[in-house]
Amino acid sequence: MQQHQLCILGSTGSIGESTLDIVRRHPERFTVISMSANSRVENMLAQCIEFKPQYVVMGCQETATKLSTLLVENGIANIDVSYGEQALCDIASSDQVDTVMAAIVGSSGLMPTLSAVKTGKRVLLANKESLVTSGQIFIDAVKASGAKLLPIDSEHNAIFQCLPEFEQHRPGECQLADNGISKILLTGSGGPFRTKPVSELADVTPEQAVAHPNWDMGKKISVDSATMMNKGLEFIEAKWLFNVEPSQIQVVLHPQSTIHSMVQYKDGSVIAQMGNPDMRTPIAHAMAYPERIDAGVEPLDFFNTKPFEFEAVDFERYPNLKLAIDACSQGQAACTALNAANEIAVEAFLNYQIKFTDIFRINELSVQQFVSQQVTTIDDVISLDANVRVYAKDQLAKLMESE
Ligand code: NDP
Ligand code: MG
Repeated sequence: MQQHQLCILGSTGSIGESTLDIVRRHPERFTVISMSANSRVENMLAQCIEFKPQYVVMGCQETATKLSTLLVENGIANIDVSYGEQALCDIASSDQVDTVMAAIVGSSGLMPTLSAVKTGKRVLLANKESLVTSGQIFIDAVKASGAKLLPIDSEHNAIFQCLPEFEQHRPGECQLADNGISKILLTGSGGPFRTKPVSELADVTPEQAVAHPNWDMGKKISVDSATMMNKGLEFIEAKWLFNVEPSQIQVVLHPQSTIHSMVQYKDGSVIAQMGNPDMRTPIAHAMAYPERIDAGVEPLDFFNTKPFEFEAVDFERYPNLKLAIDACSQGQAACTALNAANEIAVEAFLNYQIKFTDIFRINELSVQQFVSQQVTTIDDVISLDANVRVYAKDQLAKLMESE
């Protein structure tokens, strides 16, 4: 049995909580050395009491001070509490940990995840945004350090499980075409508005958008699932993780979310990974890899499951997915710009500032504006990300004035 010393970035989130549930079930395998949160101090306090990490990083000085006070009040004196990006990078790269769960949402996860990669950790990658925003730079860092990248996103974890063993060991370096693989079939449920008339999409509320039919997730990724931007980000993520051309990835709508993705081979075989939609399955798979452990997930009951359906994607309903697929071929600037604009637009939608369909307008304008920029270093990524955010906020203000 392998034992792992964990750093959990984003422990108070949906993925973070599921990760801690796996730790709770297997205390003999996993020790939590460090955890991070942004704002949820009370949740972090409860996690500290239960998992007794040595280090905690919060989003800012105020929340760090608040947590420190609460820890003392609860008789806990031996946790080192700090805050900010450098502290996140420090816990992610510490010699005391061998495995880092990268589960911060958005591009705030980029630098800490890269820090774990550069120090050769086993990196359990939930934060797809870091790979989308920095693509080749991220993969080059993985190759240079020998870090092990294990996908947490259920689709990529499924694809990983459907690959031959020798390919599984080299995400980012696979030569799929040379090994009999013709296509990656990326499945997606289509979210809560798959059957809603397109003409009514402008009026959907944030509450309706975050109510995903099959998965229980954080708010940002839930909105991304409703627009299918999530599938677009996953398309770009798959290109980098599995070293494939965009033409080798096909999105397939599968409303039941039972098949989590598939790999099609040249001889006609299609290998699928299935299971009930519960993130603890891919999380447990990656945490214990190459061993298998109980994740507390009910096995599929084939005699009481809904019939499997498959559909092609309607890009009129999901224009954000088309934008992301196109960005994947246009290059890094388009992908980085799309991700940054989308973070701004989704936040504005969640704050009732813009309509659901305006997310696409902001995203499209931002990609057009920045598509031809050069992005070759991590500094280029960071400065482009910042510039896109300023531009997207300007476009937002104009939209809000005109509506
Ligand atoms: P949540 O919103 O539930 O959690 C996000 C975590 O990140 C929280 O711990 C939050 O802290 C922390 N955080 C937020 N903003 C910052 C910031 N600026 N700096 C540092 N930490 C921050 O998100 P999810 O768990 O749903 O998603 C996490 C990642 O995993 C995303 O990249 C998502 O795309 C990916 N993913 C999620 C899946 C899911 O099922 N949820 C499936 C596949 C991928 P706090 O709570 O204290 O504010
Ligand atoms: Mg996914």
